[in-house]
Amino acid sequence: MKRIVYADNAATTQLDSDAYKAMSEILQREYGNPSQPYSFSRAAKKLLADARESIASCINALPDEIYFTSGGTESDNCAIKSVAFNNSSKAVITSQIEHHAILRSCEFLEKQKFPVVYLPVAHDGIVRPEILKRYITNNVSLVSIMLANNEIGTIQPIGEFAETTHSYGAIFHTDAVQAVGHIKVDVKELTVDMLSASAHKFNGPKGVGFLYIKRGTKLLPYMHGGQQEQGLRAGTENVASIVGMSIALKNNVDHLKENRKLLANLEMALFARLQYNGFSENVNYFRNGNTQEHIDGNVSLSFKGIDGEILLHRLDLMGISVSTGSACDSVNTKISHVLTAIGISQEIAKGTIRISFGKNNVVDDAVYIADSITRVINELV
Ligand code: PLP
Repeated sequence: MKRIVYADNAATTQLDSDAYKAMSEILQREYGNPSQPYSFSRAAKKLLADARESIASCINALPDEIYFTSGGTESDNCAIKSVAFNNSSKAVITSQIEHHAILRSCEFLEKQKFPVVYLPVAHDGIVRPEILKRYITNNVSLVSIMLANNEIGTIQPIGEFAETTHSYGAIFHTDAVQAVGHIKVDVKELTVDMLSASAHKFNGPKGVGFLYIKRGTKLLPYMHGGQQEQGLRAGTENVASIVGMSIALKNNVDHLKENRKLLANLEMALFARLQYNGFSENVNYFRNGNTQEHIDGNVSLSFKGIDGEILLHRLDLMGISVSTGSACDSVNTKISHVLTAIGISQEIAKGTIRISFGKNNVVDDAVYIADSITRVINELV
């Protein structure tokens, strides 16, 4: 039987089995609309309230600061547009390495005549706090900088950005889609006003996520209709998926330490095996992004003179799933905007793959990936 090694967990993850069990039960039995007043719907309403409370406690928020959405893209769109349109002439600041859910939202704002600044990023993938201080003014409504990057895994100094932003009276949002469920995320410690998360990145179901909005943060409702989600985001709630998301998040948060240790070991095993196979860093491959401030298990590797697409397909034939850049970019053959922003040359950037391990991987998977990469590269060069 063909060996299958899934190592694209930054694109999506396997559904948690406790979440799956709860969801199938709810889909079949608790199908009441949580907004209806009769007793049959009370169970759905309670499930929603419990899920909100559990999610809030996982990030040290209050339950009424959690707004359910359809995922990371919607949370990001809501954050950017709801703040900008509430402050019509003011500018928005973001970074050059954001996910397209942020970048495209900002491009849309530019078309509506909002000034937008895209902060440059250092070679290690980290936005330096001084850069924000250089660009921010009293005419800024929102600063949005991601907590962890999806392509290279780098973690940004969010607390420092939030402090600078607040000193200018602006709102601070972070896209924490790659961080929630993977590292400790405490909204009070980070001092953020808004934070986006997506369930399928932390072993929850696809098509559901949440936006944390600190009490008192002023925004315009962006989805109009019913009064769900405190009138900010209308639409009947996806009860089963929301419950699945809350269970998956709790399970990940409860096992954060073990999971991180496992992922760090998998990374070590990968590099040790590459070394054993005669592949050295900065000779046979380059590693992108800061290796200390990064999400464990997210590894971006570039091979000079290699086409990343060909490498990906050859690995696929060996049963290995990895990505060339971000999954959302897989139809786009352009060089990744993240690698360009951190100053990787086109020649090296085009030979880049992202390996992102998950809690279901084992050391033997890392060894198999290292051996397969070695074999393919030796054949291609
Ligand atoms: N933000 C980041 C950093 C991501 O990695 C992704 C997905 O890849 C998203 C936003 C979009 O999330 P979703 O797939 O839930 O729309």
